[in-house]
Amino acid sequence: AAWEKQVRHSSTPRRANGLSVLVTGAAGFVGSHCSMALKKRGDGVLGIDNFNSYYDPLLKRGRQKLLAQHEIFIVEGDINDAELLSKLFDIVPFTHVLHLAAQAGVRYAMKNPQSYIKSNIGGFVNLLEMVKLANPQPAIVWASSSSVYGLNTNVPFSENHRTDQPASLYAATKKAGEEIAHTYNHIYGLSLTALRFFTVYGPWGRPDMAYFFFTKDMTQGKPINVYVTQDDKEVARDFTYIDDIVKGCLGALDTAEKSTGSGGKKKGPAQLRVYNLGNTSPVSVKKLVTILESLLNVKAKKNVIKMPRNGDVPFTHANVSLAYRDFGYKPTTDLSSGLRKFVKWYLSYYGIQSKVNKELDSPNDHSED
Ligand code: NAD
Repeated sequence: AAWEKQVRHSSTPRRANGLSVLVTGAAGFVGSHCSMALKKRGDGVLGIDNFNSYYDPLLKRGRQKLLAQHEIFIVEGDINDAELLSKLFDIVPFTHVLHLAAQAGVRYAMKNPQSYIKSNIGGFVNLLEMVKLANPQPAIVWASSSSVYGLNTNVPFSENHRTDQPASLYAATKKAGEEIAHTYNHIYGLSLTALRFFTVYGPWGRPDMAYFFFTKDMTQGKPINVYVTQDDKEVARDFTYIDDIVKGCLGALDTAEKSTGSGGKKKGPAQLRVYNLGNTSPVSVKKLVTILESLLNVKAKKNVIKMPRNGDVPFTHANVSLAYRDFGYKPTTDLSSGLRKFVKWYLSYYGIQSKVNKELDSPNDHSED
């Protein structure tokens, strides 16, 4: 079938010893960037995404178009669909799965708890079951989250810090994913690597995240809510630029060992790893707004309010020495230069003509595509 041909073509590596990667959530923010980076290196990439309407589906279709230009095919389907996944594993001998499909966002869980259970736990287990049955068994690298550190105040966060105080259902499902991974590694010898991303931002980002909707509201002259803690301390995030996250994902894929299989012939246990991927320098939300004000050349109308208990945590800060040791992960983009690229993308994507747009075209700015 034409469909099968596209699946094969897209997932065949173009370089010697290239990877063949199934990227779940490929129409998503991080998934689309990782897919393009892998393809550019000559690896084979097949995407899967259900194009759900958690946020503007047009943005997901836009990313799909961009991927199509790079000859990356996205299968439209759900990771809960066992039949579809097993068919894909039958057609393609994937070496790796980069699992990024999830119900993201912390506040939405208060209204839609079941969608988190369905995708982040049910979907993950279904994927692991299918990988277990696949031959060869691909190594799995997947997105956990800095949210697993929850209300832990012992910063910077290291991978061995406590993760038993989730502040949201989202965090609880990500933590559950890490526990579930442990069992599939232990019983079935699957190779599993969890990446705890810290607040990822950049072009083609997610409209439900603060930097994105602040930009939107500020360009439209609307007021924004800036949170402080109950005791009036600043809320801060370890904002991490998408290109740094992509490098971390590729590094984790490149260093992932093969699954050993249940009762495997290979001696020793299969790999089970957990890494922080952050920026190592938290910035307050207040400062984030100041940077956006100067990039957009507008004054924000700020409502400073105390953070409600809506799943958000007061601050995050990553220690990334483990990822540096094992695959040379080193974030290189500070918030100002990363936001400059985001704002530039935002204004041109939404066709906002402004003087600011031209000013952002600094000579050493090279676009990604
Ligand atoms: P995203 O929402 O843009 O991407 C996720 C994609 O998965 C979406 O395109 C969605 O349509 C798809 N999807 C969701 N459920 C699915 C299902 N059941 N079957 C098939 N497709 C499904 O989010 P993102 O920011 O790119 O995040 C990628 C991963 O990283 C997620 O696992 C997220 O939880 C995690 N993460 C992101 C951040 C961040 O700041 N962006 C931080 C920590 C962790």
